[in-house]
Amino acid sequence: MDAQLRAQQRAGSRLDNSQQRPALPVVPTVPRAPAGRRSAQAQAKNVVRATAAQSGASRAVAPLAASTGALCQPVLMPEVVVEPAAEPSAYEPKVADMEEILAERDACGVGFIASLKNIKSHTVVKQALTALGCMEHRGACSADNDSGDGAGLMTQIPWKLLKKEMPQLNELTTGVGMVFMPNNDELEAQCKQILESVCAKEGVKVLGWRKVPVDHDVVGRFARVTEPRIWQVLIEGKPGQVGDELERELFVVRKLVEKAKNAQLPVEFAPDFYLCTLSSRTIVYKGMLRSAVVGSFYRDLENPDFESAFAIYHRRFSTNTTPKWPLAQPMRVLGHNGEINTLQGNLNWVVSREHELNNPIWKGRESELTPLCNAAQSDSANLDNVAELLVRTGFDPQEALMLLVPEAYRNHPDLVKEYPEVIDFYEFYEGLQEGWDGPALLVFSDGKRVGARLDRNGLRPARFWRTKDDMIYVASEVGVLGDVISNADNIVAKGRLGPGQMVCADLEKATFMETGAISKMVATRQPYKEWLQKGLRRLADLGESTFLNEPMYDSATMLRLQAAIGMGAEDATMVVESQAQTGVEPTYCMGDDIPLAVLSDKPHMLYNYFKQRFAQVTNPPIDPLREGLVMSLEMRLGARGNLLAPGADSYKQVQLDSPILLESELQAVASDKTLGTKSFKIFFEAGKEGSLEAALRKLCTDVEAAVRAGCQCVVLSDRPDASGMDAGRAPIPALLAVGAVHHHLIRTSLRSDTSIVADTATCFSTHHAAMLIGFGAHAICPYLGYETSRQWRLSSRTQSLIKAGKVPDISVQAAQKNFKKSLEKGVLKILSKMGISLLSCYHGAQIFEAYGLGKDVVDMCFRGTVSRIGGMSLADLQREAESLWTKGFPEKAMTKLEEYGFIQSRPKGEYHSNNQEMAKLLHKAIGLGNGSQANPEAYKAYQQHFAEAPVAVLRDCLDFKSDRAPIPIDQVEPAAAIMERFCTGGMSLGAISRETHETIAIAMNRIGGKSNSGEGGEDPTRWLKLADVDEAGKSASVPHLRGLRNGDTATSKIKQVASGRFGVTPEYIMNADQLEIKVAQGAKPGEGGQLPGQKVSPYIAQLRRSKPGVPLISPPPHHDIYSIEDLAQLIYDLHQVNPKAKVSVKLVAEAGIGVVASGVAKANADIIQVSGHDGGTGASPISSIKHAGGPMEMGLAETHQTLVRNELRERVVLRVDGGVRNGRDVLLGALLGADEFGFGTVAMIATGCIMARVCHTNNCPVGVASQREELRARFPGAPEDLVNYFHFVAEEVRASLAEMGYRSLDEVIGRADLLTQRTVKLAKTDGLDLSFLTTFAGASGASSVRRAQEVHDNGPQLDDRILADAEVMDAIVRQRSVQKAFDIINTDRSALGRVAGVIAKHHGDNGFAGHVRLTLTGSGGQSFGCFCIKGLEVKLVGEANDYVGKGMNGGEIAIVPPPGSPFRSEDASLVGNTCLYGATGGRLFVNGRAGERFAVRNSMAEAVVEGAGDHCCEYMTGGCVVVLGSVGRNVAAGMTGGLGYFLDEDGSFCDKVNTEIVAVQRVVTTAGEAHLKGLISAHADRTGSAKAKALLANWEASLGKFWQLVPPAEKNTPEVNPSVVVPQAAKVAVTA
Ligand code: SF4
Repeated sequence: MDAQLRAQQRAGSRLDNSQQRPALPVVPTVPRAPAGRRSAQAQAKNVVRATAAQSGASRAVAPLAASTGALCQPVLMPEVVVEPAAEPSAYEPKVADMEEILAERDACGVGFIASLKNIKSHTVVKQALTALGCMEHRGACSADNDSGDGAGLMTQIPWKLLKKEMPQLNELTTGVGMVFMPNNDELEAQCKQILESVCAKEGVKVLGWRKVPVDHDVVGRFARVTEPRIWQVLIEGKPGQVGDELERELFVVRKLVEKAKNAQLPVEFAPDFYLCTLSSRTIVYKGMLRSAVVGSFYRDLENPDFESAFAIYHRRFSTNTTPKWPLAQPMRVLGHNGEINTLQGNLNWVVSREHELNNPIWKGRESELTPLCNAAQSDSANLDNVAELLVRTGFDPQEALMLLVPEAYRNHPDLVKEYPEVIDFYEFYEGLQEGWDGPALLVFSDGKRVGARLDRNGLRPARFWRTKDDMIYVASEVGVLGDVISNADNIVAKGRLGPGQMVCADLEKATFMETGAISKMVATRQPYKEWLQKGLRRLADLGESTFLNEPMYDSATMLRLQAAIGMGAEDATMVVESQAQTGVEPTYCMGDDIPLAVLSDKPHMLYNYFKQRFAQVTNPPIDPLREGLVMSLEMRLGARGNLLAPGADSYKQVQLDSPILLESELQAVASDKTLGTKSFKIFFEAGKEGSLEAALRKLCTDVEAAVRAGCQCVVLSDRPDASGMDAGRAPIPALLAVGAVHHHLIRTSLRSDTSIVADTATCFSTHHAAMLIGFGAHAICPYLGYETSRQWRLSSRTQSLIKAGKVPDISVQAAQKNFKKSLEKGVLKILSKMGISLLSCYHGAQIFEAYGLGKDVVDMCFRGTVSRIGGMSLADLQREAESLWTKGFPEKAMTKLEEYGFIQSRPKGEYHSNNQEMAKLLHKAIGLGNGSQANPEAYKAYQQHFAEAPVAVLRDCLDFKSDRAPIPIDQVEPAAAIMERFCTGGMSLGAISRETHETIAIAMNRIGGKSNSGEGGEDPTRWLKLADVDEAGKSASVPHLRGLRNGDTATSKIKQVASGRFGVTPEYIMNADQLEIKVAQGAKPGEGGQLPGQKVSPYIAQLRRSKPGVPLISPPPHHDIYSIEDLAQLIYDLHQVNPKAKVSVKLVAEAGIGVVASGVAKANADIIQVSGHDGGTGASPISSIKHAGGPMEMGLAETHQTLVRNELRERVVLRVDGGVRNGRDVLLGALLGADEFGFGTVAMIATGCIMARVCHTNNCPVGVASQREELRARFPGAPEDLVNYFHFVAEEVRASLAEMGYRSLDEVIGRADLLTQRTVKLAKTDGLDLSFLTTFAGASGASSVRRAQEVHDNGPQLDDRILADAEVMDAIVRQRSVQKAFDIINTDRSALGRVAGVIAKHHGDNGFAGHVRLTLTGSGGQSFGCFCIKGLEVKLVGEANDYVGKGMNGGEIAIVPPPGSPFRSEDASLVGNTCLYGATGGRLFVNGRAGERFAVRNSMAEAVVEGAGDHCCEYMTGGCVVVLGSVGRNVAAGMTGGLGYFLDEDGSFCDKVNTEIVAVQRVVTTAGEAHLKGLISAHADRTGSAKAKALLANWEASLGKFWQLVPPAEKNTPEVNPSVVVPQAAKVAVTA
């Protein structure tokens, strides 16, 4: 079956209902302050590489073999004189550039097949091609739907095939290169000449060239443009070189060729000369191909003489639509599925240590092997480069991957008990090599061994099976050979890789090893424990860690210092003191609506010019609380040693458990002789032009000299001298100093010789700490934060509050401890939102983007950071630092810190775009509380308010410039057409009140727009039209609303599917016009949402299938989206269940969003929503509100430009939100590329919000954001108020279009050329450059056509066949019973989801009284049985992949192994990861093991499995899980409801439970016993499980081996608590 993704662009109209209403008077756009025109706008660099000219260069080279026939050609030395290979250039480390890194993101399907006995056969190759074909859905294609993003095979060298053409080949002494060359005769000849010249110089012999036979016709249009000429080169090593030595020689040759080509080829063609492999053992055949055509493109692969004992196969999904042939995989050693989140840091650390990598095996030639990495390549390619160096140096590939991708070894119960030496191994290498962290299934081979390894968090699926005839198969999915039934009696074992696990087949020794044995073998080769004892000290070894009991300064001095470094009053009270008091980061609400730091006229600390990056779509965030076992804050101080020659003297380091040092700890580090620590004061001469830059330069050279002299730790300190603060010496912003020194040391190749510690007053929030570490600091002593905590505790104000019982009575030490703890927790959260587990990986990774910093600043201190709008120069920063420093020297003594108003609105503080004045003006205009009497004059005042407001967002610096004369307004499309493009943001019912939520929905339905349900499901009563509205506008059905009309409906046309999956049922999905997958949210991208317990009323709890008063937490990651192909799968699921609902994906603006959006478009989304950073009504940590996510203008412009460039724009509708408040915002959004517009906070204001900003407390005074009955009674809004507002906005848009001479939004959408940068005099800098926003991406089609296109479909489906059966449909419609059987293969994804959807459409979630009984035979694809519903009873004979029963709501699924399987079910993995995710009912029985995260977020389903992986029952809120075998770690993390029963046969279970929330007990009640026994009986009945039968046969003994998980919500249930009387009705045991 062709499972290729399709994008449908069919015409068709699905206009929403809208009630036409008479137009309100026209409201013209109020112009902003006079604006000038920018003289020179940079034009788009729409990079389209010209195809090389097909010129026929006259060259005396061998005649080229025809592409259809392969011949080895003897080498004729060409006449063309080519420069000799370049000498290794002077060492010049290149820092990784984030812009380059962002251009390539991918994920994939991968696997290998190997004959353990090393028997070569063509069958292996054929099977690999078959498997590749069955993983097409894990890859993607370019916009032509034909050019694959990449697919390929790695095999042994096909000697038999090659020898047919060149019989004299000696396998032992020959290497084969697979070479891509530019498609140009002259360049091709030059490439060959370069290689031959290198070989000649190196003393190895080129035996010949072989043109690889290919079929160009199967290559897609996009791929053909860059299709290379493909040759194989045969090279004989130096005399005597065989085996590993020959491999090393060939590696050197390849590296020399790479240097030579870069030196000699024109720069734009150099990347096209690429050696896929050059090896005597392995070869890679790959290209920009779809899986299905790999075999037909490379004719060799279908040649029966092509034999290999193993094959690695790989199918790539690149978010980029112009992927490159060389980036197809496998690479030279690895095939990778996933994404390395820490790439920029890894690349910088590689560059830093390249010069000191050496091993005698290289005979002094190490410098010829560098540079190792290249940011322009993919993460996989770079990891492969490092792994290859290690392997060629002599490391086993298993060892190389263990140290590059370490498992979470700390407190790992199995390692602690059984493999302590493995812990020593990991700990030792931590001092030499930071991890490459992120989702990763890595399949590897060096030609002798083939294996696979999974990342520390187990974020990619990996299944393996072994046959009687000693074949090993590893794959992202089972079923890829379609032989699960026919080959059943041959399969002796089925397993899966868990987090950090590995398997390896050694072809030379014919052994197959799994994790434990491999790790032990590797870890016992060297005395790592001894080496550690010699090389590593703990911080405690340097001295005692103590808190200061007394303040360092008097309170006046502290106040001056606080003011002088930029701390404001709210920083002190809301941030530092709050952290000192509570130990957690403070939260706030209503988003960030103050000007960007560069636009503000208030002085800002340097940190405020940066935004944190976060994971979305291509990689997942991590939950730092529930999955904290994979995370660590450990850091090392001291030089790093030589990775290539580890030993006892590799390093002398000090281990820190946390990067946040106490003052006493800093003291110990500063005086340590072994580290040779040196301290440097970071000050500059205030008031002297250029002194900041001069001081930075001097600092860098001073540090360099110290490091060259052996200093292994540098302390950069802004601590005032004992003599006190000096007005003439201002501190260099610590972040600037750290960044400058870090980059200077990289440039001088000294970075890994020393550590940097920041001793700074400027670090007092989590964002500050994360930034300092992200830009290079190993550790921080935030001394002013400690001092503020101390003085807060000792102040008389705090003493009084303690006495009054308003503040807990904590000690001075505890206050400091809390402050430190809160920074640590916050840093963990910040790195987890990027999906990074280890601080050592985050260190130096620069995962931030700058908004408002000029090139000179970035080049000197933050090189490689994305900074697209220019801004502050070093001179500007000096002025800003001086203006702050002066505040520390006031004329009159200070009594308090300045109220900057950055968080809360203050009378003289910073401007807030959402403010009480604008709320009042808007309320007046729309007639709130005044019978919805619209007042156009008042709306003008509302517009005028914004026209006169300070510049706050980037669009305030833009103006319209038309190329047409104005037209009469009646020629412009009507307001109704414009309003159809309006939506409201995904505000959840729960965060806002029922009144607000429903009023908004009714208003949007009236205007033909769309409201958004937000997270948490929706009350089915809202899907009906009102028919009982009286003359007063009241309805008995919804008595809490006013201003109603008959025909109104409160359904949300957009229904959200977020990570929590509360209330997402088949019926909910079937009642949506659109389904929105919320990947990230504006206020806190990369973090989960939280509904405080006090807001979970009985009504909210019922909708969300939870309990009143219990807080509801959405995890940061969707547990079914760990990569782009996972997102594609969720889109597929939703299209499967409801093929009529468009699927939108909500992203948050950040650099790189364009490439992500391309991936989302390729993943078949219908709509992409781009949100700005400023949105968000709910509670969020202040640092997230302020410092994560980018401006919506930047995200929108990048998304639109990238989609246009990649020919994907017509596939998707673009929707934008982020502080849209008026017609001007709408029109600007349109010019930047948006088709539709989302309104968030302003919609709440239009229902009555007065901007009191206490939404997160449940105390909203006007009932807009409260669940308290008495406050909700005050709700003032009516639907028509909102309708008035949207009408005003639409009229404003019309007026502006008329002024510009355009008739419709269609005509201007994407016309960034109609925008110009205004000449706005900013207070701080002249360096702002908005050319990125005014760049015209090129023509795109009509927006209305995009909006009207039909829903993208999934193509032909197994479900369609089932539903085409008349008996099945009859049973569904008439509620009868039917029984049917079908075959299934792994490309049948989301099977039965559509059947469930049809049942839900007819009968709702619970109304179906019939039975549809289906037996399926084979391998179920991903999401088997998703959204299963009552009455659907399924038996799968075979096996299944990830997400079985996702969103299951009812019915039953039973999965059994094929008959005749020789393995024990309890030992075999039968289903994959994340099964039962978000289930809301039904029963699942699996006669085999499940993977990771079994039953995550299950709220009602019951299940029995025979074993499970890590994180079982995670976040469960209800239902029951029974596990009849072993489980992995972290059971029950975040489990707040439901029950779990676990059979514990070896006494290891309790160590694996996360007991943060749940208790563990034996089964102590008869109700509990009956519950358990009933489920096991049902399991035995449905699956025939031998284990279940054995347990039941000896029930009394069996019962004693079970543990029961008890979350607090269940502790008073009869199943748990013997003292609870069982109600009569409940005494019926669950039965089969
Ligand atoms: S009025 Fe209510 S909804 Fe508006 S900001 Fe205040 S608490 Fe939030």
